[in-house]
Amino acid sequence: MSLDQRAGDILSRGWNGEHLEPEECIYLLSFREKTPVANLSVSLADRLTHSQSGGVGRITASIDVSTGPCPRECGFCRWSESVCIDRFSYIEDSDLSALCERAGMFSDVTEIRLSAIDGTPIEDLEHFVSVASASSRKGTAIAIDFGDLGPDDCASLRKAGASVAYHSCRIGEGRDTDIKPAVRMSTISNLCDAGFRVAAGTEPIGPESSAKEIVDCFFSTLGTGVRHAEVNPRESVPGTRLGGNGNISPARLAQIRGVLTLASAWNSQSAAGTGLAEPYILGKNVAVAAYDMKDWRAQTEAARRRLFNAGFERILRTDGTAAPLTLSYLRQTGAL
Ligand code: SF4
Repeated sequence: MSLDQRAGDILSRGWNGEHLEPEECIYLLSFREKTPVANLSVSLADRLTHSQSGGVGRITASIDVSTGPCPRECGFCRWSESVCIDRFSYIEDSDLSALCERAGMFSDVTEIRLSAIDGTPIEDLEHFVSVASASSRKGTAIAIDFGDLGPDDCASLRKAGASVAYHSCRIGEGRDTDIKPAVRMSTISNLCDAGFRVAAGTEPIGPESSAKEIVDCFFSTLGTGVRHAEVNPRESVPGTRLGGNGNISPARLAQIRGVLTLASAWNSQSAAGTGLAEPYILGKNVAVAAYDMKDWRAQTEAARRRLFNAGFERILRTDGTAAPLTLSYLRQTGAL
């Protein structure tokens, strides 16, 4: 069976670093998962991610600094007040410090991402950033995944030690959520203006998300001051408005990530604090370890193995160099 010619031409142009149009991405996504066009999108994007990152992968430790019911009631979130049975709580300073120190044990966790429930007061967010910044190994970037922020908030979080931020104007924003898209976009530009290295999310992708919705969300920040993008699925949460829709299949998600990786191949970036390059879309080259006091070690070891299994030959270190990611490295760091 021969490959669809128009799809083949678009994929070749993306592979060669040409700009793809939103309509071209929608066309590629009109092919179902696991079809020849979808498979080629995934494999070309994988090769591109390896070549643009020079075979270097990195680890981000993710830490929840505040958890509990959120009054926003986004139609998919486990923290929505109507489905969350936990009480609002903060991580203890001593736990946050300990986790940040442990992340630095082998100098290969180069980013610590702090996540907070929407509505956490800015002075508390600043405090957590300061604690993380003071406790982490030199060269570790402190990243934030907080709610909407004004220019002064962004400046004070930068001053407290954060340099990377994740934010998203989500698919269905203002429809599945009560947050206006303009507010989300203004936070993204405030973060960029304050000097944050911003990763914009194309999320939360569910089985009912149309190709146009996904592509529009992605293109709304591509080519702006945003440095990276992440393409993330929605996890079905029973009891939420969208919870009954289920989850997108891993194969379709890989296809979407692949098409968007090819659409932004022209936009490779330098990795923070290093002379190394990184793809615009953060995919398999970044392994996220979900940290808590019980699982931090196992999570870090699993993250190293994920990078190894995905074929990355080196791993980024906090001093900006990259160490060979070999079986003996896995053994030395407890991952084998
Ligand atoms: S604002 Fe964030 S934490 Fe709150 S309900 Fe929406 S997605 Fe969940």
